[in-house]
Amino acid sequence: MRKFVILALLCSLIGLGAVQYRFLVIGLKLGKAQFDLQAGQALREMSQQLYSENQLTALLAAVVRQAPGSFLASIDTLEEAAQSYFADFLQDQLLAQGIHADIDFALIDGSTEKLHLQSAGFQPQTAFANYRIPLGGYLPGQCGCPLYLRLQVNNLLQYLLASLRWLLIPCLAFFAIIALCLWWLLRFLRQQRQLDEVKNDFINNLAHELKTPVFTIGMAAQMLESQLPDGKAREYLKVIQAENGLLGTHADKVLELASLKSGTALLNRQLQDVHLLLSQIAASFQGGVARREGAFQFLPQASQSMSSIDATHLGNAVQNLLDNALKYSLDRPGITLSTYNQGKRLYIAVSDQGIGISPAFQKKIFSRFFRVPHGDQHEVKGFGLGLSYARQVALLHGGDIKVESQPGKGSIFVIELPNH
Ligand code: ADP
Repeated sequence: MRKFVILALLCSLIGLGAVQYRFLVIGLKLGKAQFDLQAGQALREMSQQLYSENQLTALLAAVVRQAPGSFLASIDTLEEAAQSYFADFLQDQLLAQGIHADIDFALIDGSTEKLHLQSAGFQPQTAFANYRIPLGGYLPGQCGCPLYLRLQVNNLLQYLLASLRWLLIPCLAFFAIIALCLWWLLRFLRQQRQLDEVKNDFINNLAHELKTPVFTIGMAAQMLESQLPDGKAREYLKVIQAENGLLGTHADKVLELASLKSGTALLNRQLQDVHLLLSQIAASFQGGVARREGAFQFLPQASQSMSSIDATHLGNAVQNLLDNALKYSLDRPGITLSTYNQGKRLYIAVSDQGIGISPAFQKKIFSRFFRVPHGDQHEVKGFGLGLSYARQVALLHGGDIKVESQPGKGSIFVIELPNH
């Protein structure tokens, strides 16, 4: 699930980047189209103003004719003056259309492609971002040739990007923030996983280390039992034995769960009759219920009870469910262990009439170390490992575990197994 969420986040981020890129491309295309319109309009305006004789066209005509005429200057000086005069004129026209781009120009003979006048940065070969318009009226008449005006935009892409900057900068900033947050989240998750591993190792090692003293205490208590006379000391010894047994069971549960964590390789599955296994468990469980003056029923109703199982782990899982049924029942427990088939599945159900579990906790109880908070009521000791273990066992068998429960009425836990 965690991997899926991370993958989904990464895919979304890449998707978001791709969508933003598409939007940028569309924005640039629209910007270019608008620029084309503005440039076209500016050219039309210019061609109108260059149509008749005026100070500018007279100067340009002298340059085009290569004859100073009434201008008392050399042709080089005239070219320089025409260049700067025309550049100013061009800039005014472009600004009037809302264009602030850096633009080069050239006045070209349409028949020979000769450049009569050009700005310093004009490059005749460049085809991109070129705009041209034929000139009519006074100027072509003066040179006796078809003339056209060509404009060339330098760094059009840069210009268009700059015009989109108030969209682009927030987009990039938000994208960077999301990417940073994702990176932080991934790092945090990795640290959490490492912490989890360290914590699990610590718990497992501790449980393992507890086994030896528990065993030694058990042995010593057993030897002492035969030597102690009846009386108070013997009673205290019984308490020591009972608590030691409990400690041993808890350590075993932690280790059982740890052994399952490493995967299916540890399951030793064999095709066998589940009823046989359950009947042995039921027989030993019966005594515990009887001591609490309760009722226990074993109802093996499944007609197909053969399944490929690891008898030790599945037996432990069922035992955990039965122990819970007893632990979380008040006064006189009523517990049933039953089996049934549905489709190609075999179901093992443990039901009780105990304290039940409120719906808010029913999903959480299968998590490691989770215990339903009861306040001071029904305080039953435990580590919150039994159900997590039972779930692992069911999953490793290719099955599942489900719970139905009503607070105050009881619970039913069902292990689902594939039939074979
Ligand atoms: P433990 O019993 O050691 O606390 P489990 O993993 O077996 O741990 O159970 C987790 C929690 O689920 C328990 O703390 C208890 O609150 C609740 N629970 C489990 N089985 C039952 C049941 N049969 N009836 C009511 N509550 C239950």
